[in-house]
Amino acid sequence: MKKIAILTSGGDAPGMNAAVRAAGKFALNTDLEVYGIKRGYLGMLNDEIFKISSQDLGGIIDRGGTSLLTARCPEFKDPKIRAIAAENLKKRGIDGLIVIGGDGSFHGADLLSKEHGIKVIGIPGTIDNDIAGTDYTIGFDTCLNTILDAIQKVRDTATSHERTILIEVMGRNAGDLALYASMAGGGDGILIPEQDNPIEVLAYQIQQRRRRGKLHDIILVAEGVGSAHTVAEELKKKVHTDVRIVVLGHVQRGGTPSGFDRVLGTKMGAKAVQLLLEEKGCLMIGIEGNQIVTHPIEYAWEGQRRNHMEDYELTQVLSK
Ligand code: ADP
Repeated sequence: MKKIAILTSGGDAPGMNAAVRAAGKFALNTDLEVYGIKRGYLGMLNDEIFKISSQDLGGIIDRGGTSLLTARCPEFKDPKIRAIAAENLKKRGIDGLIVIGGDGSFHGADLLSKEHGIKVIGIPGTIDNDIAGTDYTIGFDTCLNTILDAIQKVRDTATSHERTILIEVMGRNAGDLALYASMAGGGDGILIPEQDNPIEVLAYQIQQRRRRGKLHDIILVAEGVGSAHTVAEELKKKVHTDVRIVVLGHVQRGGTPSGFDRVLGTKMGAKAVQLLLEEKGCLMIGIEGNQIVTHPIEYAWEGQRRNHMEDYELTQVLSK
């Protein structure tokens, strides 16, 4: 392996820059030629590929977002389009690729590898923590802390006005953000896609809390269960409480990456280059039991994700 490229794809996540920096620096220090691809697969297709120098990697470790930029590229599902994009790598002699993104990005990487023989390593970068084969994805921890900051502020006003506040957080397929935010932020109820918790149960829990003299509630709603507005309308029909909604939205994507996400990105970025130097490909990197591990890339969507049951039950007990 002589030449490799790095791209970030899908939704941005704080800590992606740490992975880009570590991969880039590690590769340059082992005399690989390193290329950056702007805007993910869209940039690969449009030939937005440039040679990375160490100057490009300076001053980015503490910045949220991704210095390589990211974009969606739905056309990449078409094999003809992937062939054009692959040719842009081949004409430069690039035979190794590091893809930092979510499971959609890993699907694209897998196909690129199988169809065009490019060795691809996937690094999980997404705030949702919705990928199998890793306990944590890059960006999850920073996002969790952003939500905790919001909970603290929302709780002040919820307490003063004796209200039920529903905080809608990201997580289309995974309730991890809601679950961890509830555990760490002292939540009083949660709705996540992995658990069927009817609104009746939530309403009952609120009634029980009122009987115990608790006059306000912070409820975490993962977007995967539906909009907090709809949940609020349903809840109002079942329990007499003053309900308000906070949709955190894109604020969850930004911010200075936490120390944890920077270390995770750094370790994974370096590992990706080591794997390419060993001529390995079609792998994803994860962290399990505090060890950096690898799996076949398709494990990201075929493998079993962490079981949430125990954590969920804990939040239920603690919200009483
Ligand atoms: P994420 O990587 O965060 O899950 P997306 O699902 O939007 O985000 O995927 C990012 C990009 O990966 C898409 O815009 C597309 O270019 C590519 N991609 C996603 N799914 C596939 C697929 N099934 N086949 C090929 N490319 C895909």
